[in-house]
Amino acid sequence: MHCNGACKNYKAKSFGNGLSRYDNGQKRCHECEIFLDWEGLWCPCCGHLLRSKPRAKRAKVRTITV
Ligand SMILES: [Zn+2]
Ligand SMILES: [Zn+2]
Repeated sequence: MHCNGACKNYKAKSFGNGLSRYDNGQKRCHECEIFLDWEGLWCPCCGHLLRSKPRAKRAKVRTITV
C-alpha cells in the first residue's frame, strides 16, 4: 500500500522549541514521509510500520542556538 493522503488527517503539529518530534510521541512514516500524531504502530494511511523512539533515559538534548 502506498500513501493515499489519509495520513494528513493525523499530521503531527510542528514544534518550534527545538525538541525532537520523537520526544513528543510523534512517529514518522517513511512511506508517507510525514510525522504522525498517532497512537498505533502502523501508519493509518499506508499500513507502513512507523518509526518511533522510546523515551530514552539519557536523552540527548541538543541545544539549538538561535
Ligand atoms: Zn500517507
Ligand atoms: Zn504512511
